Amino acid sequence: MEPLFSPALHRQRHQFVIDFVKRNKPRKVVDLGCAECTLLEKLRWFQREIDLLVGVDIDGTKVKKKMHALAPMATDYLQPSYEQLCVELYQGSVTQKDARLRGFDLVTSIELIEHLTLDDVECFSEVVFGYMNPVDVIISTPNSEFNPFLPGLSGFRHSDHKFEWTRAEFKTWAQTVCLKFGYEVEFTGVGAAPPGQQESVGFCSQIGVFHRLEGKDGCNMLRCDNAEDVFAYTLLYSINYPSLRDNNILRRVLVCEVLRWTENLKSRWSMKTTCDEALCGIEGGEEECLSERCMEVEEEQTVCGAEMRELMGPCEKDLSKDQENDYSKLQRCESVPLEVLWSHCPKVSALSGSLDNLRRILTDDPDVNLSQDGNAVLLQYDEQDLGEKEEQDDLQDSGYAEARQHCLTAEQEEDWGANV
Ligand code: SAH
Repeated sequence: MEPLFSPALHRQRHQFVIDFVKRNKPRKVVDLGCAECTLLEKLRWFQREIDLLVGVDIDGTKVKKKMHALAPMATDYLQPSYEQLCVELYQGSVTQKDARLRGFDLVTSIELIEHLTLDDVECFSEVVFGYMNPVDVIISTPNSEFNPFLPGLSGFRHSDHKFEWTRAEFKTWAQTVCLKFGYEVEFTGVGAAPPGQQESVGFCSQIGVFHRLEGKDGCNMLRCDNAEDVFAYTLLYSINYPSLRDNNILRRVLVCEVLRWTENLKSRWSMKTTCDEALCGIEGGEEECLSERCMEVEEEQTVCGAEMRELMGPCEKDLSKDQENDYSKLQRCESVPLEVLWSHCPKVSALSGSLDNLRRILTDDPDVNLSQDGNAVLLQYDEQDLGEKEEQDDLQDSGYAEARQHCLTAEQEEDWGANV
């Protein structure tokens, strides 16, 4: 049988919320009756401007089933954004107040109220509109006038439904709530009726979008009613996404970026040295071609301001005896002026904000070696680097490299032979 709606009706309901969130950009959102957190997950993906995303359901087992899908991914740690996001999931009933649910911009209640008795709907109204008192509320519930169009349906759409309202019944309840708590409401829905019958039947899922009236925030009767700080819900899950607004994370990302760039500049310097050496030992037409590349490298070199420095002694950081020994083995290091890093590496300048800030952060960091005046990052040549380079030079001089390559080729030939 052809599906009645495409996309499926539950997807259309969630998409309605996502579109609303995209347009209105609420920062704190709570989904009541969140079940397996499907809507929360979509909101997490599509809207990074939300900084508090909360789910509540009376059925803790349902919530726990997929709640870990809301955890940050590896990329959230590797490339943290500036946005802050905290996700919290609670087990609790929407008929009970909990102080942690006040002060939200948006409350969503998708296909929930029909699961409550009419007495509980009264409590729900007081808790949501009176106590939580958010800026906006989106409520969806079945439109019973559409039921004759649902094939094979007798009775309610779900065995747990306590009622299903006509559009007029939903409107009466919604308008009463608006009058009592200072909201206005617009009616709409998802899941259109067959052609020509929309007017008389309405949407399959009817939706009320409530908006708090100006001047009604935080001053309604129930909120000022010595609003007790009740904590009726049980916290099941809480996670803070990594954010660059966290100083430790910002520092870590910035230092990685600085070290990456200084390494990058070091490689460029090595390339330049190789070019210089190569230029000394070649003839004729090759020279022109190689010197062009060397000029490019030199240009990069100048742009990036990396330069070789002969070190007279250890760098300015306090050194232990062991470190002093290490440093005595060092002969030189590469120096990258902070000013150059700051002006040529967009991520470094964006993360640090100012040159002074960059200097301050790097001064405190044990992984970064700053020059005595604090104006440049020093990148040491450790013994291994020097050793490898000297070894290469020696091998090159003695012609051993060529011989070694020949031997390897012979070994390879043997391997291939064995594999045939
Ligand atoms: N909103 C979800 C699921 C709707 S089904 C969606 O859009 O797919 C209704 C959900 O409401 C169920 O998960 C049920 O456990 C929850 N529920 C029922 N009574 C509740 C109550 N008093 N308080 C909180 N959640 C309730």
